[in-house]
Amino acid sequence: MIDNRSARTWLLSEIVSGLALTLKYFFKPKVTVNYPFEKGPLSSRFRGEHALRRYPNGEERCIACKLCEAVCPALAITIEAEPRADGSRRTTRYDIDMTKCIYCGLCQEACPVDAIVEGPNFEFATETREELMYNKEKLLANGDRWETELQQNIAAEAPYR
Ligand code: SF4
Ligand code: SF4
Repeated sequence: MIDNRSARTWLLSEIVSGLALTLKYFFKPKVTVNYPFEKGPLSSRFRGEHALRRYPNGEERCIACKLCEAVCPALAITIEAEPRADGSRRTTRYDIDMTKCIYCGLCQEACPVDAIVEGPNFEFATETREELMYNKEKLLANGDRWETELQQNIAAEAPYR
């Protein structure tokens, strides 16, 4: 007497039902993306790699008020500042230790001039810890690179601030 289990084995019913399931999903829209060639959508609130922004005339936005340094819960930001010859106050040093950062976004929220922001870039993995010690030049370069996207995100979030 052949029991049910043996019958399923001999009739290959499990393989057939498995193939039927594969065939069913073959024609459905794909939910996976072919990263890194395809990427999913990102929220305008996404908190990625930091950047320091400039005004359209090229002047740095940061006025060295140090609010971001004070609010950072991870003590990741280090700022030094001096007055310029024209009396304006600007940073002479702006470092972020990205290995300490917890991507809370408080520095961005504290900044009165939208200078320090967390941008949409999440592809900044490095091979060494030293490469994650960002200085002012690196942060300003990030700002220059991502300014278009940063402006769009700030504009999208403006009604909620
Ligand atoms: S995101 Fe948070 S932890 Fe990172 S630098 Fe800004 S305030 Fe500090
Ligand atoms: S980035 Fe913004 S909060 Fe930080 S020191 Fe500059 S102006 Fe102040």
